[in-house]
Amino acid sequence: MRQYLVAGNWKSNGNTESNAALIGGLKSTAIGDNVEVLVCPPILYISAVQAETADTAIEVGAQNCSATQEGAYTGEVTSAMLADAGLKWVIIGHSERRTLFGETDEVVAAKVKEAVAAGVKPIICIGETLEERETGQAEAVCLRQMDAVLATNAPSADWVIAYEPVWAIGTGKTASSADAQEMHGALRRYLREKAGDVAEDMRILYGGSVKPGNAAELFGQEDIDGALVGGASLKAEDFAGIIAAANA
Ligand code: PEP
Repeated sequence: MRQYLVAGNWKSNGNTESNAALIGGLKSTAIGDNVEVLVCPPILYISAVQAETADTAIEVGAQNCSATQEGAYTGEVTSAMLADAGLKWVIIGHSERRTLFGETDEVVAAKVKEAVAAGVKPIICIGETLEERETGQAEAVCLRQMDAVLATNAPSADWVIAYEPVWAIGTGKTASSADAQEMHGALRRYLREKAGDVAEDMRILYGGSVKPGNAAELFGQEDIDGALVGGASLKAEDFAGIIAAANA
């Protein structure tokens, strides 16, 4: 049985004080046996957030990693460094990295390779734009993004896929639970075809304006194994509400 994963992507938000307040606000949130909770702060605040979550079940991850190993790559943080800092998770290929920072499918695949080699579990983000959805290409785009990762990486039960339709990220628009399930089901079938039984253990998260009010319906779908949450992960009450929906 797949455990739900509720992961918060804080993006470039917060500071020492607000991060501490956010974690403080989450400390009393019950986390069920079948739920894992993860927060991904900006890299500079990771060690402070690790200290603040030390006596909780909340895990801490990174939002990005380098596609390279150590060397002369100014500004890059390698997966080995993430592992050395005690991190077990990294978000890779978020649509903001793809669209704003030019990450190609190949770069995403290279980052997955580095993360896995370092023992850091990748949360691999895929998803179509509004134009791609409206022109009937949504599934093909997601499978192409998946294929690029599969081309150079052996599939693993430790992989988490985050299906995040780009048009739903930070816009307040959410895919209907039926549309999301349709894509998650298609992804699971494709992964089964490519990877066999391991696909049953891979978690597929939905991301895109998940809130306490829509989380329960999304989590009720057969192939939705949790959420990657942006905006609502910055408010303790909202993130706690999403965790509560996974606990139920
Ligand atoms: C995200 O950035 O991964 C995301 C899903 O953002 P939001 O929840 O704000 O749409």
